[in-house]
Amino acid sequence: MNLIKRLGAVFAAPNQAQFDKRSHWVYVRCQRCGEILAARIDLSNDLSIDYDTHEYTAQKVLVGSGENRCFQRIHVHMRFDKQKRLLDIDADGGEVVDPPAD
Ligand SMILES: [Zn+2]
Repeated sequence: MNLIKRLGAVFAAPNQAQFDKRSHWVYVRCQRCGEILAARIDLSNDLSIDYDTHEYTAQKVLVGSGENRCFQRIHVHMRFDKQKRLLDIDADGGEVVDPPAD
């Protein structure tokens, strides 16, 4: 059994200067080696609608760069509301973290 880290809507607030309505970025720290991986979710193409609830879901599988000799696969599951705002995110094999400040 993998540990599933369940977090609230960490990224719900569009607090970045360059908030992009068409994409959503997810940052996950690998549970095994600590590498931070980023994934872009294309809100036009990557979401699947649930016709019962009219919510959206998306999934991504992230694999590290290999520089830590770690090839852990991290499965990210997301749920979005009708306005495509993130409701819920799980990372199986990693931990969802805040976007790096730059
Ligand atoms: Zn790793």
